[in-house]
Amino acid sequence: MINKIDLINAFRPSVAKHILTCYKAFEYEYTEEDTPPNEYAEKGIKLHKISEDLYNNPKLKIDNTFTKDDINLVKGYVYYIKSIAGENADIAEVEKKVYLEKLSPYFYKDKYGTIDFVAIKNNKLYIVDLKTGRTNVIIKDNYQLYIYAYLAYCEYKNNYNINNIRVAIYQYNRERYIDLKVDELITFIQNNIIVHLDNVFIATSLPSTVQLTCKWCKGKTICKEYLDNLSLF
Ligand code: SF4
Repeated sequence: MINKIDLINAFRPSVAKHILTCYKAFEYEYTEEDTPPNEYAEKGIKLHKISEDLYNNPKLKIDNTFTKDDINLVKGYVYYIKSIAGENADIAEVEKKVYLEKLSPYFYKDKYGTIDFVAIKNNKLYIVDLKTGRTNVIIKDNYQLYIYAYLAYCEYKNNYNINNIRVAIYQYNRERYIDLKVDELITFIQNNIIVHLDNVFIATSLPSTVQLTCKWCKGKTICKEYLDNLSLF
């Protein structure tokens, strides 16, 4: 029997959508080994690092092993986040750690996620995520980005007057975003994240649902529900 506190600690914002709607996925996240990052994931990690370095050092020379498209993506992203920071942001940080204990008291204190860029300017909280992959990422009701926005809001709300929130993705050399009211974000997190994390402790099982996000589930190669429904994908 898996300890439910360990299950909670298997939680990561990037896999929140499927593990909070499929209890089996939650267990697989805990029991199945991590697969080594593929070449695309490795490239993504490097591009995030170069973006951070370029943000901090505009004279940085980007190593020429990257393609022109990759270099343009990084430069465009850094230009975009610098334009948000401008001269007068109250806060502007790259690779900002936020701690997950605000979602559930069962998380260890040092359990964190990393936001690519966060800023506060003119009473607005900005959350920006750099996506280096080719899959079109939808922003509306995006569990990962909304969790980041909520955790950043919780961290800053006592020191800054935050009236609304912009959640943005930089992908394909352009930004896309939606604006949320604070109440809207809190309601989403309460109903879709916090309630389900609490349910892990009171329910013997949560719904097991074959869904689009199965493709990111660690258990998909052995999950009977998924394998029986491959034609849907
Ligand atoms: S593959 Fe899909 S149905 Fe199977 S455990 Fe994962 S999320 Fe659930």
